[in-house]
Amino acid sequence: MTEKIIGFIGLGNMGAPMASNLSKNSHSLICYDTIDTNKKSPSNAIIADSIEQVVKSASIVFLCLPDGSVVLDVVDRILSVPDRCVEIVVDNTTAGVSEAKEAWERLNKENIKYADAPVSGGVSGAKAGTLAMMVAASQELYTEIEPLLLSMAKNARNVGDQPGQGMAMKLLNNFLSGMAMAASSEAVAFGVAQGLKPEKVIEMVNLSTGRNTTTEDKFPKRILTETFDSGFATNLMAKDLKLYVKSAKDSSAPSFLSEKLLSGVWSKMLDKWPDSDFTKIYPFIKKYGK
Ligand code: NAD
Repeated sequence: MTEKIIGFIGLGNMGAPMASNLSKNSHSLICYDTIDTNKKSPSNAIIADSIEQVVKSASIVFLCLPDGSVVLDVVDRILSVPDRCVEIVVDNTTAGVSEAKEAWERLNKENIKYADAPVSGGVSGAKAGTLAMMVAASQELYTEIEPLLLSMAKNARNVGDQPGQGMAMKLLNNFLSGMAMAASSEAVAFGVAQGLKPEKVIEMVNLSTGRNTTTEDKFPKRILTETFDSGFATNLMAKDLKLYVKSAKDSSAPSFLSEKLLSGVWSKMLDKWPDSDFTKIYPFIKKYGK
């Protein structure tokens, strides 16, 4: 079997460690980012100086970009290369449901297969290769790409065969995560106002029915330590909730809580602290949540 060359576009907080894990399997990797590709790429990867260079040599291309509009722009750049060899695009961006459908449509017209495959698990999960990956693809396509996906995401699953279903899965997860972050922060602030120690509040909640990933992971490791270093920015949480609310409205699904969570908490935090890590939600709620 001839060795496939794999392309990776977007080497940020998530993309760089994911590409690094991908490079540890037997395939050659060619990488591109608009900023400092050589510093962000795995040491054994080919450094590309353009998207065009990636798609002229790679048959499968992964995208891990900021949002859906950048994805659609990159898809158009891929399609503008006449002598491309790309056959499959796997989108690990949290791009949105309608954006994934649009990307699928544009690529499908040119006989390029597309899977939306956003991830959950943060930078630490990306480094450890333990990410959850929600993949929307036909069974045939999923089987073809699964070994590559598992090298980046131990918990990759095929969630459906319709474009956008991976994004829907990711958005509903991040709605739950954003709600747990906000509710846990408000609950700890309440405990502190009653004279309880925050460490004791977290310890008892984690022994009780209110426990969740914020109380089990974010509070002990990143909030109470005041490191605020999850690598997931407030603007990404606000973006994901906006996409969730929009997709809920588009599909006539309920958006009662998500709209309040977006306008009442995450949009306000984005206005006040635009460059913050999302774990700053606890000091934000203490300061502005009264
Ligand atoms: P990031 O901003 O750190 O990385 C994005 C990268 O894309 C940057 O390096 C940027 O230079 C590059 N880029 C932008 N435009 C480009 C273009 N046209 N061509 C090539 N490269 C381009 O973001 P991130 O935290 O790595 O997140 C990436 C995606 O993963 C987002 O959609 C995010 O919502 C999602 N996500 C992030 C996390 C997290 O914890 N950070 C967790 C799960 C999912």
